[in-house]
Parts: sequence; structure tokens; C-alpha cells
Amino acid sequence: MSPLVPLRPDLKALTGYHSPQVAAEVRLNTNESPFPPPESWRDDLFGAIERIDFNRYPDRGAHRLRRALAELHGVTPDEVFCANGSNEVIQCLCLAYGGPGRAASVFEPTYALHGHICALTGTEVVVGSRADDFTLVDAEIDRVLAAEPIIAFLCSPNNPTGRAEPPEVVRRVLDRAAGLVVVDEAYGQFARWSALELRDASERSRRLVVLRTFSKTWSMAASRLGYLIADPEVVAACEQVALPYHLSALTQAAGVLALRYQAEMEARVAVVAEERGRLAAGLAGLDVEAWPSDANFILFRPARPAAEVWQALLDQSVLVRDCSGWAGLPGCLRVTVGTPPENDRFLVALEKALEVGT
Ligand code: PMP
Repeated sequence: MSPLVPLRPDLKALTGYHSPQVAAEVRLNTNESPFPPPESWRDDLFGAIERIDFNRYPDRGAHRLRRALAELHGVTPDEVFCANGSNEVIQCLCLAYGGPGRAASVFEPTYALHGHICALTGTEVVVGSRADDFTLVDAEIDRVLAAEPIIAFLCSPNNPTGRAEPPEVVRRVLDRAAGLVVVDEAYGQFARWSALELRDASERSRRLVVLRTFSKTWSMAASRLGYLIADPEVVAACEQVALPYHLSALTQAAGVLALRYQAEMEARVAVVAEERGRLAAGLAGLDVEAWPSDANFILFRPARPAAEVWQALLDQSVLVRDCSGWAGLPGCLRVTVGTPPENDRFLVALEKALEVGT
């Protein structure tokens, strides 16, 4: 059937990234926190909603939220930009710095939305690759950065392979990059170090942008809230391209209140990290190849075809992510760390799924 009105031709080439939202009792496909935020956070939020002037636009500068985040990270509010999820932060960066005639770089396999948002904003993508063990080697970093991308994306811990980039890799990228170095730390709280530690007074460090989200460790994926920490000039550039009043009063209030529950967030992270170990040990006893993870998910390659295992898991109402079609990940699936009972269900279901057909 011909379209009502012809679509932008370049959109046709962009296949969907999104995980199918199919019904399943155990949902381990989108790396959310398996735990809800604290009950008292909900109560606080209901109280805050009562005080919102709904007939008025929200604070366009999200000042309270930015002050609270600045305090959390020991930076100033003008070094913080907030948006509807870190995806919108990435979009703002690409709108401000990318666009036709400009390029950004990614190292695949990595978070597909970096390249996808580049394409949506007309930004060319220079694609680098990872070694067989998914690490980044110096020669490849240098080759990619020789193209002088205006934005060099890194993802640490890297989704979906799981490992945090070592500090020396981020330092090398910063040394070689001519433009911004955006380190996506959506899973940063699970890792042992943050690129924020590389911030100092140097010119090189002014080009470092670190992304964080409330969607994972803060248990607030439904709220859609993410942010960056960067030089005030980068924050101002993002503000220039963001739609006016893009961040609702509800979202701003939810974020401010969440930050009062830092200890509870850290306790959830500790439980997930422990469960990740248990899941990894369980996978080690099965007929799969699994990679080490510094995040809340594990990439693994079953001995049987990934699509069949994915379906066999779904038949048992366990949903994981099929990454087998992604660049550099033939035969791979990714499982998000869930609650202890969910992880048990997954391991039992996987064992069964691996048996089918043998
Ligand atoms: N970055 C990475 C690496 C992610 O895995 C995700 C979510 N899958 C995001 C960013 C986007 O998160 P959000 O927009 O919910 O903040």
C-alpha cells in the first residue's frame, strides 16, 4: 500500500530497535530495576503532586532538580542538564552538535540508540569495532578518532556486552578526540569507577560529557528522567535545542524526591550485584557462553540458535532480549538481573530451553 504522504526517505533504512513489549510473567528484557522505588517516595510524590500548579508551565530550567543533582555529584547546577530519559539527552547533544555534514562515532556492539539517534538527526556515524572479547583496542580507537567525529560515544558499562571501559581507555579517547566524548553511564552505579573521576580543570576534561539515568538504579523508568554532567557550555547548547518546558513538573518533582533516597538506591544496587553473581554462576553450569558484567544484565550465547531459545523461554513466560541480530553479536541473548525468584525462574527455564530439540 502506498503511504498517505511519503515518509522522509532516510527513515526507511532505520529498522526498529525496540524490544517487543509482549506479555510475560518474568520480564528480563529491558534492564530496568526489578524493585520498585521506596514506598515513602511514592507518598512524598503524591504530596508533591498536590502542590503543583497544574495551570502553569513547569520551571523551564528545572532549577531545584539541577541543584539537587549538582549536590549529589559535587558540581555546579550549570554543569547539569536534565531531560526525559538519557535518550532525550542524547538527542539534544546530537541536535546541538551533530546534524548534516557532521559525524559521531560509536564502537559496536554497543547501545543501538546512539547510532539510531545520530541517524534521526542527520548525523553521520563512524563505526568502530571491538575485539573478540568486546574490549576496545588502541589501534581501533585511534583509527576511528582520526575521522574527527564531533561526538565520540562510549558506553560504560557497555550495553549489551556488560563491561565498564577501563579508565585508560576513556583517557585515550579523550586524548585523541577532537570533539565531545560522551560516556553513557546508564549503568554507572553498578561499576567500580565513573568517568566523572576524570573531570579536572584541563581543556581535555571540558570535552567530557557523562550521562546518567533514573531508569535503572533509581527504579524510575516510568518517570523518564535522565541527565548529563558537562561543561556549562555543553549544558547551554542542550538547552538551546530542547523544546520549551520539555521536563514536566511531575518528572522534576519525582527526581528531586528520589535523591533523598540515595541509601535505599545503593541497597538495591547491592542486591542486584549479588544476584548478578548468582545468575553468572548459574549460567556457568549451563551450555552457554556468558560474558562478565559490571551492569545489571548478562550477555550470553546459548549452544542452540538464539531465536529458538528466546521463544522457548517465552513459552515458559520468561522474556529476555534477543540481540542476535545486532552487529557483532550473532547467537547472543541478554538477560536482565531480576528479583531472586525471577532469576531462579529464568535459570530453570533456560535449562529446559537448552534441552529442547537435543
Ligand atoms: N543508555 C543506555 C546504555 C541504555 O541501556 C539505556 C536504556 N536501555 C539508555 C541510555 C536510555 O535510558 P533512558 O532514556 O530510560 O534514560
